[in-house]
Amino acid sequence: MIKKNDIIFSNLYGFKSPLIEEASKRGDWKDIKKIFKKTPVDIIDEITKSGLRGRGGAGFSTGMKWNFMPKGDKKQHYLVINADEGEPGTCKDRDIIRNEPHKLIEGCLIAGYAINASKCYIYIRGEFYNESIILQKAIDEAYKKGYLGKNCCGSSFDFDVFIHYGSGAYVCGEETALIESLEGKKGQPRLKPPFPANVGLYGMPTTVNNVETIAVVPTIMKRGYNWFSSLGTKNNSGSKIFCISGNVNNPCNVEEELGVPLKYLIQKYAGDVVGGWNNLLAIIPGGSSVPLLPKNMCEDVLMDFDSLKNLGTGLGTAGIIVINKQTSIVKVIARLSEFYKHESCGQCTPCREGTGWLMRMMERVVNNDVSRKEIELLEEVTRQIEGHTICALGDAAAWPIQGLLKHFKEDILKNVERKSKVA
Ligand code: SF4
Repeated sequence: MIKKNDIIFSNLYGFKSPLIEEASKRGDWKDIKKIFKKTPVDIIDEITKSGLRGRGGAGFSTGMKWNFMPKGDKKQHYLVINADEGEPGTCKDRDIIRNEPHKLIEGCLIAGYAINASKCYIYIRGEFYNESIILQKAIDEAYKKGYLGKNCCGSSFDFDVFIHYGSGAYVCGEETALIESLEGKKGQPRLKPPFPANVGLYGMPTTVNNVETIAVVPTIMKRGYNWFSSLGTKNNSGSKIFCISGNVNNPCNVEEELGVPLKYLIQKYAGDVVGGWNNLLAIIPGGSSVPLLPKNMCEDVLMDFDSLKNLGTGLGTAGIIVINKQTSIVKVIARLSEFYKHESCGQCTPCREGTGWLMRMMERVVNNDVSRKEIELLEEVTRQIEGHTICALGDAAAWPIQGLLKHFKEDILKNVERKSKVA
């Protein structure tokens, strides 16, 4: 469990001002000149050794991602921050932007310096209008102080930060769709390879990182990679903001060490499941795009990338959606199917046609209007979508249904039988 002085986002709840005067008291920008004395290679090395894994969902090593950027070329490099937080059940980046914007901006500067990107775009959800105003104020403050702009922090490095507004398409959270949108085109994912590190924004080498990932970088650089890797579990270092929503008494965002037990998180911070722990039916651990876990698997599970992967699900964005026994799990998953159908960009057939088909089948499951054979077909179709699309939205549409059928298939079939007997 995290100690008070290991908490990175000490103003997560916005009790103090997000702006530079208070942010400096929290330690933001304090050691930036010292950090600039290190070489980009040293910075990438320290972030790699810290074990920081991307906080946007994929959990890929941040240091390794930065290392993919070409070195010694003469091309313009870009850093793009993904602040398009659209994953259901997830609201952590929004709180960072509105309450700790200077951690993000300082992180952008360090990351930009490390990958030799002199331009940074923060792609923010259009709906986060109030947050974007705070973010712009903080950016202006950083320019005024000489932290950003020409020869920033007294170095020979130039760095500019721009905010770009998205328009609410979930798929623009996928890095190549985000780049397309930033270029002024329709937000549709690109085929990979080439990867953005080689051909990204405007065809130039680009790194896309999530808000939380970048906002923890300054603290790692200040306190050292050993400190960060001492938090969490093996290969799952550091702390993480967990968003707990659904049927809990006190929905909240909370920073805890990776590897914290799920039960502890829900009981200590979210005031327990509505109706008590024994009233828990299931949780979806990583935003809506991962398979659910039924209660029996929730007893001892640790909230980190590897523990959840071992149980056939994922940490994703760490947006924990809690579902109790008074809620219809079938309706929850059917609602998610509708969401993915709505958000499919339509480029590839398994996703475009499949998400609509899944949604219509799930409507029938809600009404107990399916046969055992059709349930088997539903499962089979999710397997045909999974891994056969350009981006991960196809998987995201398939996995919640796979989780439902893995753990609740017999319950669904019992309800179908009961209905047919009554009829
Ligand atoms: Fe578009 Fe869906 Fe294909 Fe992704 S998987 S590119 S959202 S059609």
